[in-house]
Amino acid sequence: MAQIDLKDLAHSYASRPQSDADYALKRLDMIWQDSGAYALLGPSGCGKTTMLNIISGLLRPSQGRVVFDGRDVTDLSPQDRNIAQVFQFPVIYDTMTVFDNLAFPLRNRGVNEGEARKRVEEVAEMLELSDDLRRRAAGLTADAKQKISLGRGLVRSDVAAILFDEPLTVINPHMKWLLRRKLKQVHEQFQITLIYVTHDQNEALTFAEQVVVMHEGQVVQTGTPQELFEKPAHTFVAYFIGSPGMNLLPCRLDGGAVVIDGEHIALADGLGARAERAGGELQLGIRPEFLKLHATQVEQGIPVRVKLVEDLGNYKMVTVRLGERTLQAKVPEDEEVGGEQAWLVFPPEWLRLYVDGHLVE
Ligand code: ATP
Repeated sequence: MAQIDLKDLAHSYASRPQSDADYALKRLDMIWQDSGAYALLGPSGCGKTTMLNIISGLLRPSQGRVVFDGRDVTDLSPQDRNIAQVFQFPVIYDTMTVFDNLAFPLRNRGVNEGEARKRVEEVAEMLELSDDLRRRAAGLTADAKQKISLGRGLVRSDVAAILFDEPLTVINPHMKWLLRRKLKQVHEQFQITLIYVTHDQNEALTFAEQVVVMHEGQVVQTGTPQELFEKPAHTFVAYFIGSPGMNLLPCRLDGGAVVIDGEHIALADGLGARAERAGGELQLGIRPEFLKLHATQVEQGIPVRVKLVEDLGNYKMVTVRLGERTLQAKVPEDEEVGGEQAWLVFPPEWLRLYVDGHLVE
């Protein structure tokens, strides 16, 4: 296993990049800790595959160095970096048995047959492939084939890291959930550095200890699922994470409060002053889960108009208007949401301020 350092790294597919926009990966320094379970999360085109392929060695960065445990590997092939990569679509040999498919990466590296067998059986057991080991891979379902692909990534105990590029795309939803749990177990058991690319926040948040969020070629935040939820460092993370995302409201400061459509909302001590010092375009952020909705007037309650109440099983999603602004509040299913008039309470501990998109700490 290895710690992976990306030093002064950037990549452009253009031969003569002119501006920032020409970079699929903008300049960054980053450390992937040894034995970490990471998800690399972001929308299509944000640069996830580019980042992964630079780490694996499939792509040479146009700038900077890739370092594994202090050793510069920038010019080494994936083979020489000792990286296993699992792709979106299964890469297996149809004419071989499941056993031989799994043993292939080990035999290829000269691992003796006894050791290979032990390891293959261990991984097959973990992925619930033990009963299929003697079967030929041809004719297996897409799910089973992708399990073999995962298995081929997992059999080698000597890899620096295993990289997954949206490996569960072709898998049915129930199996997806099972395989994600399996990967988590594998990580706990073998303590392998895992980097898992996905554009699906549920996948990222359930699998990873650390989630790296990318946006337009940049890493905008690295944090635990809880940190991303509670303290998004950037408005992109605020609305990308969560279902729905964070409410983000343009506002102005007035002492220790923000003003939205003439209404004053009190902030935690000192936050307003720090935002003032940062200067720039200001937005108030609060997650729908942390807003408190009341049918009658309460202290600190801001009057709002209820526009829509959606019953979503174990909670209700309420859409309200505060002056010209629309917000969503997630309320318990048994809470009565009466008429059009309601009052919203904004708990100061859950209020975040963003200046030009960046969190005021
Ligand atoms: P997806 O989830 O759709 O795979 P991604 O986040 O993995 O997206 P990348 O595939 O890394 O994103 O692409 C980042 C940017 O680089 C995109 O604008 C893409 O069009 C561009 N790009 C990717 N590969 C190439 C290539 N071989 N040549 C030129 N441009 C490329």
